[in-house]
Amino acid sequence: MDNADYIAGALRLANARTDDLETLRAELHGEPWWSSRLTEQDLKTLRAVAASLRQSIEAAVSGEHEALTAEVNRLLATYPPRPRLSRGEPEQHRDWHVHIADVETPPAAGIAAAAAWGLAQGIVRHGTERWGKCDAPACGTYFLDTSTNRARQFCSARCANRVHVAAFRQRRRS
Ligand SMILES: [Zn+2]
Repeated sequence: MDNADYIAGALRLANARTDDLETLRAELHGEPWWSSRLTEQDLKTLRAVAASLRQSIEAAVSGEHEALTAEVNRLLATYPPRPRLSRGEPEQHRDWHVHIADVETPPAAGIAAAAAWGLAQGIVRHGTERWGKCDAPACGTYFLDTSTNRARQFCSARCANRVHVAAFRQRRRS
């Protein structure tokens, strides 16, 4: 993984549904090595980590830089990254890369360390102004706006369409 993947991973966990183990496994299917080994204890841990990620991103969105720094540093201290150099499989055209947690790390700790690292890197690379929360009613999904005009309001085309269709109907009624 590179830093962009870790940033995406932080957002995925922040937005993940953590109702039960199966749901969380499905949310994290992109990381099969971790998701397949998740236990009830991991679920409990990751629920708290996801809440902490949301709190951090919320602080970024509202420009509370001290709260943001404190929360991200708390996560990094609790789930310290343990970088490991890894040689990619030549036949998969992968090169040297660094894993942020080694393969022996328990799933929750590995996922949490990767997410904390991703969020920190996301703040370093993009600052705080590009983080946002979906404007669609009853959504609240967090996103990182990497568009050139920085005008993103919604987490997805689906939410944007939903709001635009509702507004269109509203206008036709009035
Ligand atoms: Zn949305």
